[in-house]
Amino acid sequence: MNDTKIIDGKLISSQIREKIRFYGDKLKDKTNKTPGLAVVLVGENPASKVYVKNKIEKTKEVGFNSIEHRLDESVSERELLSLVNDLNNDEKVQGILVQLPLPKHINSDKVLDAIIPIKDVDGFHAENVGKLWSGLNSLVPCTPLGCSILLKKINQDLSGKSAVIIGRSNIVGKPMAALLLGMNATVTIAHSRTKNIRELVKESDILIAAVGIAEMVKGDWIKKGCIVIDVGINRIERNGKNVLVGDVDYQECLKNASRITPVPGGVGPMTIACLLLNTLFTSYIQFGEESVDLTSILD
Ligand code: NDP
Repeated sequence: MNDTKIIDGKLISSQIREKIRFYGDKLKDKTNKTPGLAVVLVGENPASKVYVKNKIEKTKEVGFNSIEHRLDESVSERELLSLVNDLNNDEKVQGILVQLPLPKHINSDKVLDAIIPIKDVDGFHAENVGKLWSGLNSLVPCTPLGCSILLKKINQDLSGKSAVIIGRSNIVGKPMAALLLGMNATVTIAHSRTKNIRELVKESDILIAAVGIAEMVKGDWIKKGCIVIDVGINRIERNGKNVLVGDVDYQECLKNASRITPVPGGVGPMTIACLLLNTLFTSYIQFGEESVDLTSILD
């Protein structure tokens, strides 16, 4: 019975990637050009290396070109900005992703804002952020976009529903709030200075957990029927093994939740699918074709 509660991000993301491949092939046939996604990795952060490897693998799987730049930890901000500038001007590149975090001596905001908005497939450029909050068409950060697709997939009309997001990062929490507002939910954002998180969660129809604290949200925090979207990816040791867990205590929260994403296999694979979706979207525009109808991909 619990199986019906689980939102299978792995399955949904693979269906989306199949459609991206289909529309990507159509675009290639029509224009004789192949969408290209450039990934820039600075340094040796082990988690970043795994993310980048997965992104490159999936980029190739949908038939896009993957352009990889691996830079030493000691690269200067000027050198990185110069690479971004080259990629901005490279016709073979339709999307640019600079993997975060960057080393401390580099100003991440400056680098992200150097990516031209039309190639900003992470949706972090101030122009795209502003458009998102203004309700205009924009490139949307991949993880919250993935969460919003999961919510749409389970056919939830969010009008009049209350949603709480734990976490206010530019990557997840804030854009998630904009998307939920766009879906007519009433949104609360909680963070490390919020005093009554447990009570806020208890009153909410939807919970988005994006904190980075393993299993912080306990089963008795959740209102019966709550939809739980767990963004967290935390590596912990359990019974002598290294395991990945989310920001919610999955086994406990499964009891009261009406729908819930597992970790792994929930939001994670949706993030990569949305990166490719954004790349497809910008490729259509950059190749001078009419924009692809995203709704047909997401049906
Ligand atoms: P950040 O560290 O940038 O932000 C964490 C947020 O959680 C901050 O707003 C912080 O508040 C808040 N926070 C920290 N401690 C508490 C607390 N005790 N109570 C309430 N709020 C708290 O993380 P990200 O947004 O980048 O990522 C969040 C999680 O999502 C991580 O586990 C990350 O690994 C995962 N992630 C998963 C992705 C996926 O594809 N599934 C993609 C991106 C991230 P404050 O602002 O006050 O410091």
